[in-house]
Amino acid sequence: MAKQTVLVLGGGVGGLVASSMLKNELGDRAEVRLIERKKEFQFPPSFPWLMLGLREPTQVQKTLDPLRRKGIDVVNDEVVSISVDGKLVKTRAGEFPFDYLVVALGAEYQPEIIPGFKEHAHHVYDLDSAVASRKAIAGFSGGDLAVGVSRMPFKCPAAPYETALLLDHYFRGKGLKGKFRIRFFTPEGMPLPSAGPDIGNGTKQFMESRGIEFKFKVKLTAITPNEAKFEDGSSVPYDLLFAVPPHRAPKAVSDAGLTDQSGWIPVEPTTLMTKQENVYAIGDVASVPTPSGFVPLLPKAGVFAHGQAEVVAHNISVDIKGSGTKREFDGSGSCFLMTGGEEAAFVKGTWYSKPHPDIKFQQPSRALYYERLLFEKYWMHHWFQRNRLMEALDSPVEWLHHRIQH
Ligand SMILES: Cc1cc2nc3c(=O)[nH]c(=O)nc-3n(C[C@H](O)[C@H](O)[C@H](O)COP(=O)(O)OP(=O)(O)OC[C@H]3O[C@@H](n4cnc5c(N)ncnc54)[C@H](O)[C@@H]3O)c2cc1C
Repeated sequence: MAKQTVLVLGGGVGGLVASSMLKNELGDRAEVRLIERKKEFQFPPSFPWLMLGLREPTQVQKTLDPLRRKGIDVVNDEVVSISVDGKLVKTRAGEFPFDYLVVALGAEYQPEIIPGFKEHAHHVYDLDSAVASRKAIAGFSGGDLAVGVSRMPFKCPAAPYETALLLDHYFRGKGLKGKFRIRFFTPEGMPLPSAGPDIGNGTKQFMESRGIEFKFKVKLTAITPNEAKFEDGSSVPYDLLFAVPPHRAPKAVSDAGLTDQSGWIPVEPTTLMTKQENVYAIGDVASVPTPSGFVPLLPKAGVFAHGQAEVVAHNISVDIKGSGTKREFDGSGSCFLMTGGEEAAFVKGTWYSKPHPDIKFQQPSRALYYERLLFEKYWMHHWFQRNRLMEALDSPVEWLHHRIQH
């Protein structure tokens, strides 16, 4: 029988894990091909540290070359079209047939739909923007600091709250205590709504104890040079503004007819299968229903992309090998919330539990901050080891993966 081809689109969190696990499980039994437009993998959870100059770009990205040494065919190109029926993906330079397809193309940003966003707002949602915001931070000498979310859904429910807390800690440390005021705005009704009202209200109270004020259930419609304006006619003044840009599925995905009215690819929650045979969608690009959840859809987060990638890679391997037992994704995940200085909080649970997600919150501590450092180390090293033996030797931080994932 001819070798089957598994095509993974996107070499971010989900695609990196899926292609690596597929190669590990299948070896030479299948062609594993990864198409990614960037030459490097980037680690977004460290982008807020980039903003504060606590990391340099080289410390939060890694070349994808080691994947080639493992036998994965890494194609460094832009996906321009996906034909599910024709089982063919086109890039700018080539055409790639597939037997199995894993779409892990993440989310794109569309700041242009909010007038004034590109000109006035800063954000940490991509590496270049996080670095670019350093200049504005250095120029801030007190006054109004606005931090917020422009639209739902957005990736990493904790990231904008983390941004506000980190900036608060940073400016206090720069001697600006009492000289600035932070207002946080969001279309959400509370922080971290997918984690439920107890964790949401607890986070709100914690941030209020740091002097941060909230404006909930507002939709950002325009940004002038000194005000963020909302659909209900209200506004917040700012001297420095950080806002999460609006998200959408990548154009190649929506053009392929893979998305539904949510704007994202609908999948079965435990298998991540789309409606098309042998086509899977994982991570931010997927729309994952959580019928027993506090919110209707699973939040977009790397920890879910990771867990989903493991399940999908394993199940495709079982199909191709014709042996083994398939697994189900159970909605387990966790997230650190850096609160400033050497402290972090931790949210962990199972988002598919019934009658409601079973999620616990751990108060900020220094111990959790050190775990957060290990979490970064794991991502910057584990998947880039030369072979499985080296991966195994890398295992001192493997326990952390289990702590975070299970
Ligand atoms: C500031 C910040 C902090 C975060 N912190 C956390 C955290 O602490 N914990 C957590 O779990 N999650 C966190 N996240 C969210 C996490 O990064 C994402 O949920 C995760 O990266 C999603 O993985 P993915 O594989 O779906 O998409 P991505 O990791 O975004 O990967 C998608 C890849 O597809 C590529 N791509 C897109 N379109 C094309 C195309 N047409 N052709 C070729 N390649 C293409 C992109 O270049 C990208 O590499 C954070 C995100 C941000 C922005």
